[in-house]
Amino acid sequence: MLKVPQYVDKITPYVTGKPIEELERELGISRSVKLASNENPLGPSPLAIDEIAKHTGTLHRYPDGGAYALRSALAKAHGVDIEEVIVGQGSNELIDIAVRAFQTPGDETIMGSPSFAVYYISSAKAGGVPVQVPLTKDYRLDLKGMAEKITSKTKIICIANPNNPTGTIVTKDELREFFAGLPDNILVIMDEAYYEYAAGETYPDSMEHFREGRDILILRTFSKAYGLAGLRIGYGIANKTITGAMNKIREPFNTSTLAQMAAIAALKDVQHLRRAVEINAQGMAYICKELKALGIDFVPSQTNFVYMDLKKNAMEIYNRLLKLGMIIRPMGLADTTTIRVTIGLPPENEQFIRTLKEVL
Ligand SMILES: *Cc1c(COP(=O)(O)O)cnc(C)c1O
Repeated sequence: MLKVPQYVDKITPYVTGKPIEELERELGISRSVKLASNENPLGPSPLAIDEIAKHTGTLHRYPDGGAYALRSALAKAHGVDIEEVIVGQGSNELIDIAVRAFQTPGDETIMGSPSFAVYYISSAKAGGVPVQVPLTKDYRLDLKGMAEKITSKTKIICIANPNNPTGTIVTKDELREFFAGLPDNILVIMDEAYYEYAAGETYPDSMEHFREGRDILILRTFSKAYGLAGLRIGYGIANKTITGAMNKIREPFNTSTLAQMAAIAALKDVQHLRRAVEINAQGMAYICKELKALGIDFVPSQTNFVYMDLKKNAMEIYNRLLKLGMIIRPMGLADTTTIRVTIGLPPENEQFIRTLKEVL
């Protein structure tokens, strides 16, 4: 009989947020609310939608495999060379490509715990050894602890900044200190999926470390604040050695025509982005105020989601919320008590608080 290799067999697959259609089909309900995958509740940029409509007539053609127009726009926006930009099917794919390019079987990849599950899966499925370092007491990545785990086998360090699921950041000073002590044969993946929400005084400018000549891969995405999660498009900025290696691993047509075109339009729609960040800040203030009133412990967040400890079995709460048409994310193992909730539009946030009260 065909045998699944052990390193594949032991992988726990990524659990995605439950799609609204699936819940409604299963329960025969309608008007449910999904606050589970950190999507932009405003929807896609209208400019992106128009751009998609304009390009449907060329769908019999393969996309531009080199994504020239999008990479040019991104290179210009970031003041880098086009060869220093790579685009992927979400930043997810770029994590996977980078790991396959730089981690060989038996090598170690260091990450936080809990942090974005894709780092673990990508490392393990390429035959690597994921090294998980617990967060600090205040739910932040422990950069010092991660640096202490570096061995001669370490090839990659994954820094989700802000971290998912906790919504916390490592600061400018902490990151500078980390880079100062870093051996020079390690790739640092700075995963900045929530960059647009996090920008502030103490949030690091990772481009500074790129310009210093570090082996750093900065990842951003159109899935979160830009509202294009369904198109699957993200990008990375890194030196040409890194993008060059990644381009050898990448599928030739890894991003679609519509995704490339919509991303260019979304990048230009500054107004839509600003509205998304504003409505998120208002929703975040509301949710935090209500959680405080309910006496629920939560972690102050620099993203569009909140991590909270309900002190009750999270799977049970999750299932009861589902029955009321509210989709959130229970985090971690079956016995944990924490959930992650995405900030929605005001009525969605109110509905979350109402259903949470009911369930508790
Ligand atoms: C959502 C997310 C991503 C990437 O999502 P894509 O849709 O693949 O671009 C990457 N990292 C973190 C930490 C995320 O939360």
